[in-house]
Amino acid sequence: MSESARPLVSIEHLSKSFRQGEVRVEALRDVSLTLAAGDFVAVMGASGSGKSTLLHLLAGLTRPDTGRVTIDGEAISHLPEPELTRFRRRRIGLVFQAFNLVPTLSAEENILLPLLADGCPALDPATLDRLLERLDLTARRQHRPDALSGGEQQRVAIARALITDPALILADEPTGSLDSVSGQKLCRLLRELNEEQGRTIVVVTHEPAVAAWARRVVVLRDGGILTEFTAGEFSDAHTLATAYQDAVEASATREVRV
Ligand code: ADP
Ligand code: MG
Repeated sequence: MSESARPLVSIEHLSKSFRQGEVRVEALRDVSLTLAAGDFVAVMGASGSGKSTLLHLLAGLTRPDTGRVTIDGEAISHLPEPELTRFRRRRIGLVFQAFNLVPTLSAEENILLPLLADGCPALDPATLDRLLERLDLTARRQHRPDALSGGEQQRVAIARALITDPALILADEPTGSLDSVSGQKLCRLLRELNEEQGRTIVVVTHEPAVAAWARRVVVLRDGGILTEFTAGEFSDAHTLATAYQDAVEASATREVRV
């Protein structure tokens, strides 16, 4: 467990705004957060609160206006583009709501895709077999995405995210296109990957039923961190939903008073 004390991700005073026509939208305002190796963090918040922006900054898909993101000792927000791309390919596994699989490739080929990128070491076939087995995809390995269920497609996306053995898995609304049963199965899988393999995972979601699987829940509001709950403070999705609602309402009341 001493491993879990090592900070893996540090986010320092991160701000990001976007132009929308004449208006500047502050998507993130001075956000600071530290993740330990082995953390499983859910980022909650209403639509537009800055969740995806935070995830994109963590993945180095967007540059911050100010502040810094450091992952495994590397200040990614300041890396030149080629190094950043290489870092992302090797060290970060990305999972999106829309699966983003290549329709003409089999499940197996989709999973292996990140290894085709520059300089990745050849894979021991047994590693792929183990991964397919672990994600319950062995019987589906030759199928193309359109022959797979939503849950299976998202498991392929997770396998693709894991194939480079990344330091960090980032998932943006990974259950957003799934029915609730498949969604809960996927959450259980993420939790198991965290517990069994010590994977560090950040999941963005607006659903308490998803966030409740995490060990920490960070709540964003209007681009800032409103509050954070740790697993001891909520026992299930229902208590988390209540705590979340209370925090959001309390901040709204404060604003009215001001
Ligand atoms: P969430 O994922 O919580 O719904 P986002 O991070 O996507 O929120 O967006 C936060 C705010 O930033 C929103 O007001 C959104 O409209 C704005 N925003 C995000 N990305 C862009 C962009 N590329 N261009 C313009 N505005 C953006
Ligand atoms: Mg979003």
